[in-house]
Amino acid sequence: MSPSLSRSNPDLSSLPMESIPGVGPQIQRKLAKLGVRSVEDALYFLPSRYEDRRAISLLGSLRQGEKAVFKGKVLASGESVNPRTRKKIFHVVVGDGSGKIDLKWFHYRRQWLEKEFVIGRRLLFYGEIKIFGGLQQIDHPEYEFFPNADDADENFSSDPDEALFWGAILPVYPLTEGLIQKTVRRIWKKLVAKYAPCVAHNIPEEILHRLRLPPLAKAFRQVHFPETTPDEQSPPNPENTLLEARKSIIFDEFFYLELGLALKKRNLHQVTGNAFQVTHLYTKPLAQKLPYRLTPAQRRVLGEIKQDLMAPYPMNRLLQGDVGSGKTIVALMAALIAIENHFQTAVLAPTEILAEQHFLQFHRYLDELGLVAALLTGSTGKKERETILDDLSAGRIHLLVGTHAILEEKVDFAKLGLAIIDEQHRFGVMQRGGLRNKGKHPDILVMTATPIPRSLFMTAYGDLSLSVIDELPPGRKPIKTIVFTEEKRDFAYRLVAEELTKGRQAFVVYPLIEESANLDLQAAEKDFDRLINEVFPTFRAGLLHGRLKPAEKEKIMERFRDRQIDILAATTVVEVGIDIPNATVMMVENADRFGLSQLHQLRGRVGRGRQESTCILIASRSISGDGRERLRVMKGTTNGFKIAEADLRLRGPGELLGTRQHGLVDFRVANILRDQEILTLARKEAFQVAGRADFFTADELAETRRTLLQRWGSRLELATIG
Ligand code: ADP
Ligand code: MG
Repeated sequence: MSPSLSRSNPDLSSLPMESIPGVGPQIQRKLAKLGVRSVEDALYFLPSRYEDRRAISLLGSLRQGEKAVFKGKVLASGESVNPRTRKKIFHVVVGDGSGKIDLKWFHYRRQWLEKEFVIGRRLLFYGEIKIFGGLQQIDHPEYEFFPNADDADENFSSDPDEALFWGAILPVYPLTEGLIQKTVRRIWKKLVAKYAPCVAHNIPEEILHRLRLPPLAKAFRQVHFPETTPDEQSPPNPENTLLEARKSIIFDEFFYLELGLALKKRNLHQVTGNAFQVTHLYTKPLAQKLPYRLTPAQRRVLGEIKQDLMAPYPMNRLLQGDVGSGKTIVALMAALIAIENHFQTAVLAPTEILAEQHFLQFHRYLDELGLVAALLTGSTGKKERETILDDLSAGRIHLLVGTHAILEEKVDFAKLGLAIIDEQHRFGVMQRGGLRNKGKHPDILVMTATPIPRSLFMTAYGDLSLSVIDELPPGRKPIKTIVFTEEKRDFAYRLVAEELTKGRQAFVVYPLIEESANLDLQAAEKDFDRLINEVFPTFRAGLLHGRLKPAEKEKIMERFRDRQIDILAATTVVEVGIDIPNATVMMVENADRFGLSQLHQLRGRVGRGRQESTCILIASRSISGDGRERLRVMKGTTNGFKIAEADLRLRGPGELLGTRQHGLVDFRVANILRDQEILTLARKEAFQVAGRADFFTADELAETRRTLLQRWGSRLELATIG
């Protein structure tokens, strides 16, 4: 699975751990649990911290909680029984002239310990100091005896280079039960010594030199067993050395991904795409019909998109903008340009609910222009589906909205010119590829509902050009966010009632998770009954959910828009696109079950008119720690970028992107949040290298090209590097 790291000879990723001396079946199984199967895995399995055991401390000057190495002589030993628990304890008293200490074992074989701790034997030992009532002790110390009881200290035979216990800075690995540090250190010591030298960076020498990054081989050695004696090149400070080593490993991981993305971008510009003309045939009538003028940011972004559409190479652009910033109209304008040029447009959404929402929105505009939009999802009926497929391949449909169902083979566009992907952080490079193949080098526009943190953009979306709508349409009012617990629900209802009495409207949203959709829907329906019969009997309410036919949904929406409905209760269908300026309350039930970006989307449904708006988040009784944190974030900010960063922090990049995209942010050591600086650096260097006119031919880049292909070739579909 994992990309290979080494020069072809030997290939460390296919060298199993079983082949390492000291790794029997039992240890192998435990290591596999930690994800360590090959020697390459082992090199990337880094210590979580280190223990400095270079100095030997005196027993006379120890402190509570200190961890240190001591040396001493066995003065006495024996067993005692804890009078309370009746458990046996083995004691060894050791002294070093400056003081004494009690070594204690609670789990032991008595015979063994008695044989080991003969009075007068000299030893080194290590552990954490505990002081109880003036008595010093170490529980279950690590220890090693001097080879001969009456040896002088200087004759201690352990070679510091071989030391796995003292005299060095030792790695502490994040282990699972049943594996002990000493064992793992012994195995890793040999493995690192033998195989780290086989690892090559293959990053241009000049870059490594300029950034002062140690070669990967040395970095791996340092990071597992930090050298404590300075050599000519590295500073004598082990902390610096360690930092540099880690940085080198992380840089290496980022560099190759960024290089791959840079080349993808570069390759695309060499492909011949469709050069559209902006005829204004449909865009102008639409612009005239709009009740507002585009904001400067919308105009700028639309200009960037037009440049791409008119250019002779395919567009590959990410359109980013906070909730309510007006992305839809920009996307629609792009679609109309494609349609003006007699091409079709596809809009891909990650879920049926979202696809339906997009459809409702787009087809309203298209209808007015006399154009045809259609919706295709997994639950489109067989008959209807056939008609759609026919119309699509005959060119009678101008815009097709759908889920991944539109990626299926039978779906055949007459002439696909533009694919708009509503990313929702869920589709990846691969899906973009899938849509691209539906036409002849169509233009691709990816939209995100919530901002993507910069670090994520540089990795998962790093091959795209970026357009940002960085201002909201004028006149938006800040939204007040209040979190209520179940117990305080009545206060929430009172707030809602106040607004309704003023003639405003409200949303009540229920979570609907696709996996438990049936149960969730039942719960929503039950609560809805309570709302209309008990809580708000004097107001008019409507329930909107995914099981309704599009026409029924539209009707309810229309009534809400016309103020014939005061409260719109809904499962998450209101998430996208609904725009009711008179709605001033958004109440979210079991709000902690929603993701941050969803909550942000939902909140964005209000605050669109002249009135002050409120977002009420009801926390469920079974709220989790993460859920609590999400609500705290929502209360603290309305800034989409801050929310996106928090989302990334809470869920991690893999989760945020969904499994499909996972491969691109699944680094072994690097972490796109923690290591943003290194990422930025690696990206800059990689894009420079990829931009070289002689990238494909330069001899000194041969190894770099080969390594790139080996690690990312198939995942990024980099067929053409050669
Ligand atoms: P999002 O970026 O979240 O998809 P929308 O496209 O749904 O945002 O736009 C939010 C609302 O703002 C819509 O009702 C839209 O009609 C309105 N809108 C978009 N652009 C402008 C503008 N330039 N001036 C005023 N309102 C606008
Ligand atoms: Mg939108």
